[in-house]
Amino acid sequence: MLVYKFGGASVSTIVNIKNAGEILRTQPNNHPVLTVVSAIGKTTNALENVAHAYYSQDIQQALDYFEIIKQQHLNIAKDLLTNELINCQNQLLDFFTEVEWLLHDKPVRHFDYYYDQIVCIGELLSTSIFSHYLTEAGIENTWVDVRDILRTNDNFREAVLDWDYSAQQVEQQILPLFQDSKIVVTQGFIGSTTDNESTTFGREGSDYTGAIFANLLNAESLTIWKDVPSVMNADPKQFDFATPLPVLSYDEVIEMAFYGAQIIHPKTIKPIHDKEIPLLVKCFLDPALPGTVISKIKTKIDTPVVILKENQALIKFQSKTYDFVGEQAVSELYLLMKKLFIKPNMTQIGAINFTGVYDHISDKVQQLALEAENLFDVQITQGLQMLTIRHYQPQIIDTLTSGKQILLTQKTNETIQFLMQ
Ligand code: ASP
Ligand code: MG
Repeated sequence: MLVYKFGGASVSTIVNIKNAGEILRTQPNNHPVLTVVSAIGKTTNALENVAHAYYSQDIQQALDYFEIIKQQHLNIAKDLLTNELINCQNQLLDFFTEVEWLLHDKPVRHFDYYYDQIVCIGELLSTSIFSHYLTEAGIENTWVDVRDILRTNDNFREAVLDWDYSAQQVEQQILPLFQDSKIVVTQGFIGSTTDNESTTFGREGSDYTGAIFANLLNAESLTIWKDVPSVMNADPKQFDFATPLPVLSYDEVIEMAFYGAQIIHPKTIKPIHDKEIPLLVKCFLDPALPGTVISKIKTKIDTPVVILKENQALIKFQSKTYDFVGEQAVSELYLLMKKLFIKPNMTQIGAINFTGVYDHISDKVQQLALEAENLFDVQITQGLQMLTIRHYQPQIIDTLTSGKQILLTQKTNETIQFLMQ
């Protein structure tokens, strides 16, 4: 058994969808393949706009945004399909109707609930088109609504999987399907609660879905098909010295993801690590390229691995009373962070202050600062960069920090980090 995950880019055009189909058709040894697919291109972002417009009760705007998404999917289906077109259109129309009904209701629950009910459609649409395309191309497959398989709690937008229940469903519902066809197509990123409400695993969560299935099916490997040749030691859009890393250990990848490398969703590693399932990162544009193999084998890395995170905010929490910032004050701060679902990327504790560095992506930083003002004097510095270098060497540190003002440095034998301006 193999698990393949196709990302949004790999189904974003007619050419790419056909190409993904060829990858399935020509996969060696004719293995059964559980195929997890993301939403097409930037559909999830577009659906987020629908959700926001709906929640602020700008219904016309929400419908207008949704209309664009509908047309895009119908157009792709029309360009791609002939025999299967009507079947596919009917399935797409059912999903459209589900969302449109919801858009006409007044929101009475919290935003995250509606977000998941609307945004989950992206993967249902993409898999419907993909599965019908495979059928039309003579590649036998079965489409599955993953919400019947992966059960989660109701922590909308950051749902937690019920492993035992989901394992049972995989056993009872997924495994028998492979008797009829070698390929099962299902959605990444989404699941459902006991009450059949849709949930999502957090942005970019389809990788995680791939890892869940690999774990539950005891797959031979999980392959993530991307538009890059392999995992690299730096983001090639940011650094021209970026080079491929052909082999990596789970430990290295989990660290890279933790420090902010945009390679694989951080939650992906644990489910495959626990069963020692190798993770292959391959390029869908050229499947012959070797890509990257990630496994338990620890290899020595000679190339520095560089991760640059923009848009960082530093918050300095200073004791109001000149008392030490001890375990009491620190635990209160962490409780506050837990309440706001905000996680520091870097921390430092001094005698009378605590410093935290955070992604400045929403109003959460402001909220944290505001709520902490009862306890501390608070000072925020915005617009910073966090540079992390693993397996660092003096020369690369000099190159990457030259001309920068360093606000904070942290160093272990393996990793050095700079907060810079
Ligand atoms: N479609 C979702 C997103 O864009 C999940 C994924 O692509 O992994 O976040
Ligand atoms: Mg994606």
